Order: sequence, then structure tokens, then C-alpha cells
Amino acid sequence: MENLWNDEDAAAFDNDLEMRVYTSRLLGNNPNLVMHGGGNTSVKSTVNGEDILYVKGSGWDLETIEPAGFAPVKMSTLLSMAQQDHLSDTDMVAQQRQAMINPEAPNPSVEAILHAVIPFKFVDHTHADALVTISNTPNGKTILQKIYGDRVLFVPYVMPGFILAKAVYEQTKDLDWSQYDGMVLEHHGLFTFSDSAKTAYDKMIELAGLAENYLLENTQLPNPLPSEGVTESYLSKLTSAVAQIKCPEAPETILAMVNPFSIAKALAQRDLSVLKQASVLTPDHIIRTKQKPLILSGDEALIDEELQAYITAYQRYFDQYQTGETCLNPAPNYVIIQGEGSLAFGKTEKEVSIIQDINNHTFEAILRAQDLGGYVPLSDAELFEMEYWELEQAKLKKS
Ligand SMILES: [Zn+2]
Repeated sequence: MENLWNDEDAAAFDNDLEMRVYTSRLLGNNPNLVMHGGGNTSVKSTVNGEDILYVKGSGWDLETIEPAGFAPVKMSTLLSMAQQDHLSDTDMVAQQRQAMINPEAPNPSVEAILHAVIPFKFVDHTHADALVTISNTPNGKTILQKIYGDRVLFVPYVMPGFILAKAVYEQTKDLDWSQYDGMVLEHHGLFTFSDSAKTAYDKMIELAGLAENYLLENTQLPNPLPSEGVTESYLSKLTSAVAQIKCPEAPETILAMVNPFSIAKALAQRDLSVLKQASVLTPDHIIRTKQKPLILSGDEALIDEELQAYITAYQRYFDQYQTGETCLNPAPNYVIIQGEGSLAFGKTEKEVSIIQDINNHTFEAILRAQDLGGYVPLSDAELFEMEYWELEQAKLKKS
């Protein structure tokens, strides 16, 4: 994995926040680390004698972040929040907002408390594809332990936000952080940290790179075979059927985009049992892609029936796990057509292309995972918890 640090560029930044912006953008530059608002970074600084955490604001993208994209929150408040036994996400957001020294700044990232708990000046967090790919396999943890040895701390999967911050706080209360180069959040991503911006970044590139090298040495991507392709009539029937469910009041506003990348075809040509493993690579993708795709046989006569079965299954999933939430629209955000490829749906070109970008990274992960025993995504219960999380829903409304 390429390290983009440049001494000359870095020399131009002389305060904590500028340096934070610089390496955040370096991370954001690599879609194999973070995509479309994923990941977050922070720096601990002092303002008028008070310890402040500048943490990525919700809704900002690391690739294009500016100083204004960081929320300045009082460290003392964040650390005392980590000690609370219970805290609802709504209360967490409200308390964090009250502890901000600039009320104009964006809402802090949902991982703000976790960043505060890590006792280093610069904290970097990504959803490194290679690491999450390995984590999402049956022996993921064993493989990662082999790759990293004792260099990283492992945190079993819990949902992001207060619960995760709390879990890390409890797990690390009596721990010497300086013996670790990073922290692996299983099925989620990677943290690195240092008092130097460069070292935190270097460690991220090194650790993510080790996982990437392992995948390149131990897995292979299949080349897709030529196929007939789906007909115009198939595409128009599919698009109109999905659009009717997704937006019954104005189905003509729904756009569909055929995935032109060979990775989509390579996945679609695998056995149905592999396609059925398709699900989110890292939890926050769920707001873009939904938990699972609709898998189609490619037979035009079966489109309505297959779509109806997907909606019924979605409704069943909602009924099984709901605790009073309102059911989201049950239409798929993307489909995989067996033997052919994939299609994404949305209201704007931007929305559709984001889904497709995320799809392509996920498809590669699923294909590579096959050489490591298969792809094991989060359970339905964990997916539901994430899909119906009020803070994720808030993020979506904002963007
Ligand atoms: Zn994350």
C-alpha cells in the first residue's frame, strides 16, 4: 500500500488541526481505506488552556475535509461519558454538542468518545478493505493474529457508537496502549494512533498493507467469462418493477445503473451459494446498500416473483428484529443478476454511483474470501441493529 506522506507538503502545516487535515486527506485519498464518508480521524489539542478533541464531523468526507469539518469537543466531557454505564445515542449526541466550543461546527463523529479514550494525540480510523475482508471469513481472527502478532489489540464486534466506545474503554482501562501499533475492530476496521501525525498515518499504511499483501499472496480474483448480457427489455422491466416499490408516487425518478466493472460479472458468475453471502463489508455501508441485494435468475418472466420474494423476506427480517421502529422502504438498493453482473438503484446519479463503488469493493472482498473459506458477514440481528440505528438514519437525511 502506497504511503503518500510528503515531507515538503507536510512542512507547510504548523498547527495540530492543519496537520490533522493533511493526513486525513491522505487517508481519504485511498478508496481501499475509506470510501464516501467512511472512517474518522481526530487530534487532541489545547484551546485557551482546555483540552479539546478535534474529531471528524458527521457527514464530512476524509478525502476533502477542511478544518471546518472537525468538531471541537471538550475532552473532559468525552472522558466522563466513557465512564457512564448507559447512554442513549440521542443523549450522547446532545451531550457532545453541549461540550463543543464552537456551536457552528458539525456534529462530532459517532466515534468521538472512542477517539477520546485512546491516549494519543493523533488517532486514525479506517475501514481498510483487506483487513475487513479477512475479518469477514471463518478464521479471520486467527489469520489476522498471524499477520500482526502482538502488535494489535483485538476488539470483538459490537455496534459503533457509545457501545463500542464503552467496550474499548472497559477492555483497555488497565492496559498499556504504547505496546500496540493498532487496534482491530473485528468486522469493522482498524485504528492506529501516535503523538505524531506521520507515525499514526505510517502505521495505518503499514498495517493495512500487511493485510493487503496477505490477500494478494493467498487469494485470487477470477476472470469473468463472456456472457450474453441482459436485454433492454429485461432492464426496463426490472427498473420499472423496482421503481414502483422504491418510489410509488414518482417511479420515473428512480435511476438504474448497470455496473460496467468486470468484478461485478466475476461475482455474478459464482454459485448461488456464494451470491447468497453478499452483504455489507463494514457496518456503515448498510445505509447505502441495504443489508442484502436481490439476487435474480436473469429470467424476465420471473422478475416480479423474485422481487416479491425479496420484499417478503425483508418484511420478515424487520418483523423479527423490530422493537417499535418504522419499517424502511423494502425495495433493494442493488441487484445481482446470476451470470451477468449487478445493477444499482437510487434517486440521483451520485447516490447510484456511491452504491456501485461500495458494491465493487464488497464484491472483491466476497470473491477473495472464497479462497479463505467463504465470506461471513454480520448476522441479521447485527445488521438490523445497524440499519435501524437512529444516528445512521440521521446521517442519511443530512447527506
Ligand atoms: Zn468505522
